[in-house]
Amino acid sequence: MITIENVTVATVDAADTVFARGHVVVGDDGRITAVGAGDISEKSGRIVDGSGCLLTPGLVNTHHHLYQWATRGLALDETLFGWLTTLYPIWGRLDADVVGAAAGAGLGWLALSGCTTSMDHHYVFPRDGGDVLEAEIAAARKIGLRFHPTRGSMDLSRKDGGLPPDNVVEETDEALAATEAAIDRWHDPSPDAMLQIAVAPCSPFSVTTRLMEEAAVLARRKGVRLHTHLAETDDEEEFCRKQFGVTPVEYAERVGWLGDDVWLAHGVHLDDSAIAKLGATGTGVAHCPSSNARLGAGSARVRELLDHRVPVGLGVDGAASQEVSHLGAELRQALYTARLRGGPAAMNAREALRLGTIGGARCLGRQDDLGSIEVGKLADLVLWRLDGMGHDGIDDRLAALVFGPPAPVELALVGGTPVVERGELVNADEEELTREARRAHRKLMVYR
Ligand SMILES: [Zn+2]
Repeated sequence: MITIENVTVATVDAADTVFARGHVVVGDDGRITAVGAGDISEKSGRIVDGSGCLLTPGLVNTHHHLYQWATRGLALDETLFGWLTTLYPIWGRLDADVVGAAAGAGLGWLALSGCTTSMDHHYVFPRDGGDVLEAEIAAARKIGLRFHPTRGSMDLSRKDGGLPPDNVVEETDEALAATEAAIDRWHDPSPDAMLQIAVAPCSPFSVTTRLMEEAAVLARRKGVRLHTHLAETDDEEEFCRKQFGVTPVEYAERVGWLGDDVWLAHGVHLDDSAIAKLGATGTGVAHCPSSNARLGAGSARVRELLDHRVPVGLGVDGAASQEVSHLGAELRQALYTARLRGGPAAMNAREALRLGTIGGARCLGRQDDLGSIEVGKLADLVLWRLDGMGHDGIDDRLAALVFGPPAPVELALVGGTPVVERGELVNADEEELTREARRAHRKLMVYR
C-alpha cells in the first residue's frame, strides 16, 4: 500500500478535477483505492510526501519504433521517403541483440520522461535476425513498463511498386502467420495486462492491399487492435492517389481499417471529410508532433480532430525520426503545434495532458483501466518534481508541467510498483543501457 500526500493531483477524470493539495492511495492489488482533497487520516504502508510536486496519470506513448534508438542522428535533412530509403538498408541488418539493446535504452528513457505505458511498432523482421519481438518484450519486462508491442509487417518492396528494398520485406502469408503466432504467444486480454499485442502492417507504400485486408480480419478474429501509419506526408497522399485512386483515409476505409479498434499514426494530411470519417467511426490518431516537425511532414489538425471526438494520443515516434524521444516534452510540443496552427485558444495545458494520458489510453483500448486517477483504476502514476529552478514560481503546477522545461520524475509507478525513483530507473542502470545501445549502434554502422 502506498499513500502519496501533500501533492497537487491532476486526475484527468471526465471533469478534469484538480486537487491543489490532495492525496492518492494505492492498494496492494496495484489499483487506486482513494483520491481526494486534503490529507487522509488512516494510512499504512509507504507514505510519500509530494510537496513541490504534481501527480498525474502515467503518460501513454501511442507510437514508437524502439529499434531506431540504434540508428539515431542519420539522414538529418531528409523528407520521410528520403530518410526511409537511407535507413532501410541499415535496418535490414537488425537482429534480436540490436533490438534488445535499443529497446532497453528507448524504454528506459521513456520511463524517465514520465511514460508508464508504451506501444512499439516493429515491422522489420530480417530472415536471420532471431526473435526480435521476444527481445523487446524482455527489455520492457526489465524496465517495468506496461507494454503494447505490435507485430508489424511489410510485403510490398520496390520490385512490386513499394518503397522498401526487397530484402527487408516478408511474404504476405508468412507475415500473417507470424502475427497470429505472436498474438497466441504473448497477448494478455486481462484488465491488469502488462503485455498486449496489436496487428500493425507498416504503411500504404510498404504493404499490399491483401495484407491490409487480411490483417484486419485476423485482428478482429483474435480480438486485438489494429495500428498503421497513415496520412503522414504529401508523398504518401500522392502514392495513394496514384496507386489506388483515393486518399489515404479512403483507402483505409476500403480495406476495413476504420473503427474503434484502430489507431493510426500521424494523421497529418486529413481533409474535412477524412476527419469526419475518423470521428464517426471512433478511429484513433497517434499524434507525433516532434517527429512531424523533424521530418518537415506538416502539422496535424488536432483541434479539429478533438472537435470531432476522435481519440487522440501522443507518440514520440521512432528515435531516428526525432532524437529527443521524451514523452513529457511532447506535451509542450503538442500544445505549441496546435497553437501554431490555430492560435492560443487551439489547445490549453489541460487538453495537452489529456492527449498524453486518457487520449493515449483510448487509442490502446485501455481507457477503463488507465489514463486517469480514479478509484478502481490501475495505479500507473507519475510524480513530477516542480520546485526546482526550471519550474518554481509558475504557480499553476499543471501549467508548469506543460509550459515549462521537461520536468524531473520524482516517482513513477506502474500498477503501484515503482519504476523510477528520484530521477533514476529502479530496475536498470542508465549507464549500462547507454553502453549497450552504443554497442548496438556501432554494430549497425558497419553497414552504413
Ligand atoms: Zn512511425
